[in-house]
Amino acid sequence: MKTITMRQIAIFTLLTVTGSAQNIYAEQQRGNIYDRNNIPLAESSVDGVRQYSSGESISHIVGYFAENKGRYGLEKIYEKELAGGNNLTLALDSRLQNIAYASLKASAQSGAVIAMKVDSGEVLAAVSVPGLPLTNFVKGISQQQWTSLLEDQTKPLLNKAVQQAVPPGSLFKFVTAFSALENNLITEETMLDCNEVYTVGEKEFRCWRHQGHGKINLKQAIALDCHVFFYQLAEQLGIDKLVQTAKELGLGSKTGITLLYEKKGIIADKESRELIKKKLPWNKVNTILVGVGQGYNLVTPIQIARLTTTIASSGKTFTPLLVNKITDSNDQTIKQYHPEIISDLGSKNNIFSTLQKGMETVANNKFHQLFRKKYPEISVAAMGGVSQVFVPEEYRDKRADDLPWEYRNHRWFSCYTPAKNPQIVITVFIDHGGKKGPLSAEAVALDILDKYLPTEENYKNSVIQ
Ligand SMILES: [Zn+2]
Repeated sequence: MKTITMRQIAIFTLLTVTGSAQNIYAEQQRGNIYDRNNIPLAESSVDGVRQYSSGESISHIVGYFAENKGRYGLEKIYEKELAGGNNLTLALDSRLQNIAYASLKASAQSGAVIAMKVDSGEVLAAVSVPGLPLTNFVKGISQQQWTSLLEDQTKPLLNKAVQQAVPPGSLFKFVTAFSALENNLITEETMLDCNEVYTVGEKEFRCWRHQGHGKINLKQAIALDCHVFFYQLAEQLGIDKLVQTAKELGLGSKTGITLLYEKKGIIADKESRELIKKKLPWNKVNTILVGVGQGYNLVTPIQIARLTTTIASSGKTFTPLLVNKITDSNDQTIKQYHPEIISDLGSKNNIFSTLQKGMETVANNKFHQLFRKKYPEISVAAMGGVSQVFVPEEYRDKRADDLPWEYRNHRWFSCYTPAKNPQIVITVFIDHGGKKGPLSAEAVALDILDKYLPTEENYKNSVIQ
C-alpha cells in the first residue's frame, strides 16, 4: 500500500498555502503537549513533523497525528485546540510513565498500570503494554503492519488502562466488606467460621486453604484472602445490596477520564445479560461468586485505581484528571481543569478506616516485606487479586506454568503509600499472569515505586512535585 509521509504532507501544505491567508491552520503551528513538569510529549518541528519524545510508552494517551489531523488519543480529542496552536499540559508525570512502562514490559507481554494522586485524582501515569509503534502510524501504516497489529494476541491496539474489562478477583472483597459493614451485617470484630467448605444447596465451594482458616474477623479474612468468609457475607447480603454498594463506589460506570473508548465494565444484577442469554434465573451461586470477584462482574484498571483512591482518601471518588490546562502560544492559560469529586462518602469514614486497616494488614506478604526493607519507616497498604480465565477441558490437568499464555489467569495488584498519609496509588493489571509467576503484579508495583520514589529522607515531603 502506498503511504504518504508526514514530511510530504508538510511540504504539500507549504506549497498550497504559501502567500495566501486562506488556510489559517497551516500558518499556525500545531500546539504541543507537555507533561506536568513541562517536558514535551508531542511537539512539531519547524517543518511540521510531529515528534513524540516518549514513544511507545505514552502512545495510548497522546495518540498520534497523521495526514494533517489528530487520529487517536489526546491528539484527536483536542484536535481543535492543538490545530489552533494551543498547548496542552497534562497531569501526567512522564518520568513515572516511562518507569511504569519499562517495568511492566519487562514482566509482562500485556497489561496496564495506572498511578493516581490521592488528593486530586490526577492521573500521574496510565500505561498500556504493548504500546503502539508510533513511528509507523505517523509515517503512514501499511496494510501488512495493520493486519499484524490486529492479529497480535497481546492486542497492541487496545488501551488496556481503560478498554479492557475483566473480573476483579479478590479486589471485589473490599466492596463486599464495605457492603456488609454499611448494612450492619457485621462489625470489625465479628468472627465468622471458615472450615474450608461452603455449601449452597447441593453445591460445594472451597476456600483456597485446605482445612480452612477457622474463626476469623474481617481484617484477618482480608489479610488471609479467605473465600468462605466472603461467601457468607455475600449470601446474607444478597445481590441487590452488593450491586448498590459497587455502584456507590464507582464501579459499573465510566470514570469519565478524557480518553477514547472507555469501557464501563459490568456490575451484574438479577437482570444479568449473561444469564438472560442462557435463559437462567439469578441464583445464590451467582451471588456468592460475585462476592469474591469471580462472577459476571467486569472492571477496568482505571476503575480499580479510582476505587483504591476512594479507599485511601476515606471516601472521595474523583473523575480521573488527565489534562491540567490549555495555554496559548504566549503561555497564557485559556482553560484550567480542576479536580472533580463526583461523590464523597466521608460520613462513612469508620468503614473506610476498617478497609484501610485490612489493606495494611496484607502488609505481611512479600511485597510489604520488600517495601519495608527499602523504606523502613514508610507504610504501604495493598490489595491483590486473581481473575480466573476459562480453561478448556483438554488443559484442565495442566499446571499453571504449563498452560498456553491465553489460558493463564489475569493478575491484579493495587496499593497506596504512605498508608498513614496516602499520596499515590499504583494499580497493576497483568493479562494472563506474567513472566515472574504468582507475584508478577506485586513485583511490577514494587519496581515502579523503587525507581520512582526518592530516598527515604526526603520521601515524605516530595513524593510528587
Ligand atoms: Zn478461608
